[in-house]
Amino acid sequence: MNKSIDIHKYCGAIHIHTVNSDGTGSVSDIAKAANRCGLSWIIITDHNNLDIEEGYIDGVLVIKGEEISSEYGNHYLAFGIDNFIEPSDNCEKNIIKVRENGGFGFAAHPDESVNRKNKYKPLRWTDKNNIPDGVEIWNWFSQWADNYNSNNIFSVIYSYIFKNNLVKRPASDTIKWWDCLNNSSDKIIPAIGGTDAHAMRVRYIIPVTIFPYKFMLNTIVNEIYLDCPLSSDFNIAKEQILSALKSGNNVIANKSVCKKIPEIYVLNSDSFAGCGGSISKDENTFLYVENSVISNIKILKDGIEIHNCKAKSCKLKISQTGKYRVQVEMNKRGFAYSNPIIVK
Ligand SMILES: [Zn+2]
Ligand SMILES: [Zn+2]
Repeated sequence: MNKSIDIHKYCGAIHIHTVNSDGTGSVSDIAKAANRCGLSWIIITDHNNLDIEEGYIDGVLVIKGEEISSEYGNHYLAFGIDNFIEPSDNCEKNIIKVRENGGFGFAAHPDESVNRKNKYKPLRWTDKNNIPDGVEIWNWFSQWADNYNSNNIFSVIYSYIFKNNLVKRPASDTIKWWDCLNNSSDKIIPAIGGTDAHAMRVRYIIPVTIFPYKFMLNTIVNEIYLDCPLSSDFNIAKEQILSALKSGNNVIANKSVCKKIPEIYVLNSDSFAGCGGSISKDENTFLYVENSVISNIKILKDGIEIHNCKAKSCKLKISQTGKYRVQVEMNKRGFAYSNPIIVK
């Protein structure tokens, strides 16, 4: 079995704001930044707004979504909808409305810290019994804001200069919830990573853009595996990306840790399964993790760690059914998180 014939990888960024909500850039500015970052696709998700232009812009597939945002939290990233959805404080209503409109959604930044020491109000998922279609397990700006202490000048300077150091790994409560959702479902409850890019302008002595789009689009990204190349026809390509995210055919990675994202897949004697896929086990079933440098590789089955090694790549024999996922850490920082692969 040669898995290389089956993989077409496309890296993209999710959860980006434009001037249509609280971002400062136009779609064209963001597409240009995405192109410079080498991304193939982006999904723009303005708060309670679905007005942006979609299409191939500056060589990047630009897809629109909506961050359904009530002021109390329960932000919901909705994809595949054609009509704007009015936010409800009740997240169950938002989940249902997105489904009724033919779309699907991800709970955004569900565990923002209640102990923040700055002006950014935590906007959490208030009732975890309300089950979303998927979970945004890692959000760059949300985690930066969780750890940013604006009361101390040294901390402020550190937080801007060494900004990536404030974004270590996904919140453990979010990972636990996501594993729990997967353990109580036969299907994959998919995960995504978001940037929450705004390119905010702040006036100190002169106006300064903090965290420009080009910086943000080089942080938390999603590498999608497709079984055929991304179409040059916008509508087909949009469908390819959205259905891959709905199925969990992506690895979430922080490119500020390492530029090359590991390949993660399972092979048996005659077939291949990437993230979000499923495969039947036989005597020759192995899970592969192929990274470009030495890293800490953890393999989990049904949310429980079953293997841990420090290596560039890893091959683990699979003899039990379950949902397998992989976490890769480098230099004590979270780097890559796969969606689960179902072994039947
Ligand atoms: Zn939000
Ligand atoms: Zn947002």
